[in-house]
Amino acid sequence: MKSEIIEFRKLLEGATNIAIVAHERPDGDAIGSLIALSLSLQKAGKQVTPILADGVPTRFQFLPGADEIKRTFPIECNLLIVLDCSDVVRTGFKVEDLPRGVDINVDHHPTNTHYGIVNVVDAYASATAEILFDLAEPLGLEIDSRVAMNLLTGLVTDTIGFRTTNVTPKVLQIVAQLIELGAPLAEIYERALNRRSVTVARYWGCGLSRLEQEDGLVWTSLTLEDRQHVGYSGKDDADLINLLSTIDGAEVTVIFVEQPEGAVKVSWRSRAGLNIAPLAEAFGGGGHHQAAGAMIVGDLEEVTKRVISATRGILESESETSR
Ligand code: AMP
Ligand code: MN
Ligand code: MN
Repeated sequence: MKSEIIEFRKLLEGATNIAIVAHERPDGDAIGSLIALSLSLQKAGKQVTPILADGVPTRFQFLPGADEIKRTFPIECNLLIVLDCSDVVRTGFKVEDLPRGVDINVDHHPTNTHYGIVNVVDAYASATAEILFDLAEPLGLEIDSRVAMNLLTGLVTDTIGFRTTNVTPKVLQIVAQLIELGAPLAEIYERALNRRSVTVARYWGCGLSRLEQEDGLVWTSLTLEDRQHVGYSGKDDADLINLLSTIDGAEVTVIFVEQPEGAVKVSWRSRAGLNIAPLAEAFGGGGHHQAAGAMIVGDLEEVTKRVISATRGILESESETSR
């Protein structure tokens, strides 16, 4: 057994009150992993508080256990686990507002800074949920149907419905086991990935109406006014980026989402073989080779100019090296 898993087990044995947190503006892997680990530790007799700084978006409220998620830390906490976060700031909490130092860090971002006492980080894993599935047996944790449903949600969403290049035969074997354990794949796929509200469709329309394309680069923006106009309550792109990345010829797709306090949330997606994570890091963000993001201070127009110019640079240098 790998030493981190032995350490993980030891820390769990000594813990009674466990707080688990995943990243801000949570996606399906953050939420699914958080609930799955919480439920299985509760079943093992632990007192567990699952926490998300931003709470659970409506789209994921169907998940069993989602109603247990809190937005603040409990008073008693003798173990802190962080999931699906490349660094502590990604939790959405300031370091000084955490109840203690991070004991266990479970993640699959190549940019992970190994901020825990125990770090189970596998950049080849398709989702944090995949790592948690593998950990269940050595940690002696049960995967019941509710845990299975949450883990499968993490896998379905982080692989955008098994479309990313890190979907290995092993991932699909895990999927098969999770279905056998009671996870409803079709329902998860439909609710966590496919289904959209009319509001979201209108919001997408705002972004699509301003779509720009230049060689292999495709981008657009979503403004505060768009959100107000259509009545969209989130601060994100409502997954429009994944739609844009299906456009024929898009080597790199970028979306700019204007934020309330003079900042812009930028998301990049790139085709297989083009690593976009260092660019996101250069702008203070992070992510995976093919999916990365950053929160950049500045107004929409200025940030768009800077980011598009830098992204164009990456595409140009890549086409030179491949010549
Ligand atoms: P997004 O563009 O928000 O869908 O995120 C794509 C990937 O980039 C995710 O795996 C995130 O973990 C990562 N990411 C997004 N925003 C940030 C950020 N501000 N800092 C670090 N990583 C980020
Ligand atoms: Mn995530
Ligand atoms: Mn993830």
